[in-house]
Amino acid sequence: MARHKSPYLARCEFCEQGLLRFMQCDRCRAVAGVCDECELVWSDVRAVCSDPKLKSSSAFPRCPACGATDGIAIRLNRTQIIRAGLQDCIRGESE
Ligand SMILES: [Zn+2]
Ligand SMILES: [Zn+2]
Repeated sequence: MARHKSPYLARCEFCEQGLLRFMQCDRCRAVAGVCDECELVWSDVRAVCSDPKLKSSSAFPRCPACGATDGIAIRLNRTQIIRAGLQDCIRGESE
């Protein structure tokens, strides 16, 4: 099965392995940055894309906006990121 490329907003400065993905909360629809390796979560996508050394807000899958412990569930594709007005935070795409 072909794997789809998905956009990322920064390289993770904490584990230095992962990429921060655009993820959305299934409950409150907040968009957060989530590392695909260490699973730290940043609530402010714009802030962490301009400063990847920012302290993380919570750990996946807890939503930093509404506090739902299983909230962060949806990985956004490029179209959804553009719709959310965050296209200027896309740094690249990878599998
Ligand atoms: Zn990480
Ligand atoms: Zn939420």
